[in-house]
Amino acid sequence: MADECDVLIIGAGPAGLMLGCWLARTGVKARIIDQRATKITRGHADGVQCRTIEIFQSFGMAERIQMEANELSEVVFYSPDKDGNLVPTSRIPDTEPDTSRFRHSVLNQGRIEDFLIDCMKTGGLAVERLMSPLSLEYSDSPTESHPITVKIEHLVPIEDSSDPASGLYRSNIISDEEFNRSRLRGGKVENIKAKYVVGCDGARSWTRKYVVLRIIYAAHRFPDNSDTPWRATRPTFIYWGVMDARPITDLPDIRVKVVLHSANAGSLMIVPRERNLVRFYIQLGALQPGEKIGVSAQSPEKIIESARKILAPYTLECPEVEWWSVYEIGQRICKTVSSKDRVFLAGDAFHTHSPKGGQGMNVSMMDSYNLGWKLAACVKGLTSPSILDTYGQERVEVARQLIEFDHKFSRLFSATPAVAESEGVSMEEFQALWVRMGKWTSGTAVRYDPSLIMTASSPAKTELVQNVIIGSHFESQMVVCYADAHATQFADRLVSDGRWRLIVFAGNMGDENQLQRFNYLCDQLMHADESPIKKYTPPSADLNSVIEVLTLTSSSRRVLSYSAFPELARPYVGKFRYPTYDQIFSDEVSYLDGGGTAYSGYGVDPDGPGCVVLVRPDQFIADVLGFEQCVENLAIFFDGFMVKGK
Ligand code: FAD
Repeated sequence: MADECDVLIIGAGPAGLMLGCWLARTGVKARIIDQRATKITRGHADGVQCRTIEIFQSFGMAERIQMEANELSEVVFYSPDKDGNLVPTSRIPDTEPDTSRFRHSVLNQGRIEDFLIDCMKTGGLAVERLMSPLSLEYSDSPTESHPITVKIEHLVPIEDSSDPASGLYRSNIISDEEFNRSRLRGGKVENIKAKYVVGCDGARSWTRKYVVLRIIYAAHRFPDNSDTPWRATRPTFIYWGVMDARPITDLPDIRVKVVLHSANAGSLMIVPRERNLVRFYIQLGALQPGEKIGVSAQSPEKIIESARKILAPYTLECPEVEWWSVYEIGQRICKTVSSKDRVFLAGDAFHTHSPKGGQGMNVSMMDSYNLGWKLAACVKGLTSPSILDTYGQERVEVARQLIEFDHKFSRLFSATPAVAESEGVSMEEFQALWVRMGKWTSGTAVRYDPSLIMTASSPAKTELVQNVIIGSHFESQMVVCYADAHATQFADRLVSDGRWRLIVFAGNMGDENQLQRFNYLCDQLMHADESPIKKYTPPSADLNSVIEVLTLTSSSRRVLSYSAFPELARPYVGKFRYPTYDQIFSDEVSYLDGGGTAYSGYGVDPDGPGCVVLVRPDQFIADVLGFEQCVENLAIFFDGFMVKGK
């Protein structure tokens, strides 16, 4: 008898664990399996983007990152002066001001995985280790509730005598055959039946191969861009070393991020880490097409020696190397991310690239963050499965941009200044490109195109809220909670729990006419038959359980008492109908923590007609509406994919 679950996640790296968090949070019956006996503890990814920390905040985990991570403040560019001496040529902030309330930080991937595992645990989901899929079958029968059967093998680990500091075993310089042969043996077999399967099984994804999704782009075939002039002329097969060490050096900038191009010895990047560690990315060499890197010839000593040559005349000693590896630069993206809208790919299973840009772990988690709430909504019968199409529509474009970015940056990193200049790109231009891409690398620039779940009304009332962009995530401003006077970041109310949000910019509650308009809107949203809140909230559920209304007044808390707000704005919830106190906010200066600039920050007229911003469960802005026609427009939007609550 096969065990049944709603969603089977294959792979418990960052992508799989982020998905696990969503599913655990939303009460979906899920299983998450991984072939490894333990999670990773050293090395691998370490860059955590601002946007990723915002998402961690929505799961209540951002503080843990902030406690342990090293925040990056500055990037320094080094290149040779006219006499060939390495000198710092410019310094810029690592995170551009106003990018996010969080800063770009660095922390070991293993710790990030720990936080995600703990978060999943609170929802009763744990990783099942030493398990790997053997086969996957679909049933086309319409009566089959769990149409996918995955045969799983329980693995018996082979005793591992490899050096724990070496990350070579997961590097792309090891062949798949070698990777599999040396690690595990098969044990007993079980069948798992699932409604959906998500392959989060990394760059060597079994799921990708098994469901025959082809890798179509290798970097050298990626559509050309005129601003990557080296593409046609430089070799693609460049390999780099990476190591985490506590260095002793006379380079003065060892505790800020350094991007360094030497005259002829190659390039390197330095990233200061937590616990006084430093991550080094060091260019080792270039291969001829068809040439393979000699795996056994790689060692930390060789990587340190290359770093010394690049850094000379600065000195470098690394008595302690915590982790090291060697990898070949290459970019790949999968043509499609799903099969029959039942099997999906996320993370490295879907796109791979070089690690230096600090993107992989972040973009991987953002993939499954995009997919998680959609799967949960389908499994729980809240929406039709048609919303699952938007996963590919939204994330393939992000992956394409990632690959393009990585291709461009890898080439720029790997070229010597002289070659770069000779090919028409100066080091100044490289630095300018770095600055231009800053918003993108922070993860905050992602914008999704119109779709079934983006942009309801036509035309959207964007003139009512100038700085809120449909398709982007909802940014935070400091506001004051009406009930308890606490200053709070507005985006902290966008908790990842699967609910949609209507953010009502109510305006000035001291203006009688505006107050009436606001009360009428709330009345319509609560009582009109076509209102999605009335239609899609199950009769026995709380009023805010599917769509939560968050109200922000431009007037002070003293203008209108809390109890004068309509019930929709402060609903009663739970068995005992407890009043809620965390859905109404005002834009005023708080006693201790600033505030009073939210309306101007969002670009809303404080004495104007107000507006409504519709925010998806993943914090992306789906629409902007005026009070008039709001309910009608929301009805058209939600009727396109929601299923009526029972
Ligand atoms: P993975 O982390 O690879 O996880 C896949 C999981 O699936 C693994 O646990 C694996 O055991 C499991 N699995 C695989 N096959 C099977 C199977 N058949 N059955 C069961 N389980 C299976 N990214 C950044 O964002 N910032 C950085 O600074 C950064 N630096 C990096 C530095 C290095 C040296 C490397 C190697 C990578 C770096 N990356 C960085 C990239 C980042 O590590 C990956 O992009 C990220 O781990 C991808 O997450 P994932 O969950 O998709 O895949």
